[in-house]
Formats: sequence, C-alpha cells, structure tokens
Amino acid sequence: MNLCRCGKLGDPRAECRCSPDQVRKYQERVSGPLLDRIDIQVHVKPVPHERLAGEAESSTTTSIMRRRVLDARATQQNRQGTCNAVLQGARLEQVCAIGANAHDLLRQAMDKLSLSARGYHRILRVARTIADLDGASAIDATHVAEAIQFRALDTR
Ligand SMILES: [Zn+2]
Repeated sequence: MNLCRCGKLGDPRAECRCSPDQVRKYQERVSGPLLDRIDIQVHVKPVPHERLAGEAESSTTTSIMRRRVLDARATQQNRQGTCNAVLQGARLEQVCAIGANAHDLLRQAMDKLSLSARGYHRILRVARTIADLDGASAIDATHVAEAIQFRALDTR
C-alpha cells in the first residue's frame, strides 16, 4: 500500500502535499486488527526504473539466498516438524524461547507499538526465522530487534 493518498509520501524525488490529517485518515483504511495479522511490514522506497531495467547482477545473491532459505526450512522441520509460521502455544514458547536482553527489548517494543499478544507471538516467530536464516541455534537480541523492525506500520 502507499503511505498516503497521492502516493508520494516517503518518495525522496517527489513532494507529497497531503496534510498530516489526510495521511492519518488514509492509513486508517487498513485497520489495526488487520495489520496485527500481517507478519512482515516493511517500507519499500520507490526504485528508479533505470535500476529495474538494467543490472542482472543480483542472480548470485538470489541463489545464495535461496540456499539459506532452504537450509532454514530444513532446520525448522528437523527441530519441530513444521515451519515457524504455524507454531502456537506452548510449542511456540519453547521453540522461540528468548533470553533476558531480548525479552526486555520485546517488552519495550510491545509498549511503544501497543502490540497485542498476537503481535508479540508474530515477532517471536519472525525472530526465530531470522535466527534460523542466520544459522543460529538460539534467538538473540539482534534477531528480535530485526523482527521488531518488520512492524513498521504499527509505529504510526
Ligand atoms: Zn501524499
């Protein structure tokens, strides 16, 4: 979705003339409860079309990334027999256990973003996935911090 009605908010090459009130109204079209069900929210800056047209340079990066994703999925299957996205309840708490530092960080984010319990569990699952992509057996505070950043739209 765009950040505002004219679609120029956040675009460094264009000027948005929407008022703060119009921006708020526009963004409220997507309700909090709906946002709460979205795992990953991230701001994507407009890409100049010259960059989309040229540069086939990213193919190596893509194949490396594909490998990491397949490895992370295999890790999840071996550890819990499912992917992280469907973890629930006690199993989720167990597989996504975090240390005191990561927990403090998550508490602060919960307050700041007014997250629900569902949002809290979503961050834990995403943090577990980031740790898996990292090849890390434990979730540390940096994984949680990265997962919190994927709640960009909750900060409004
Ligand atoms: Zn605008």
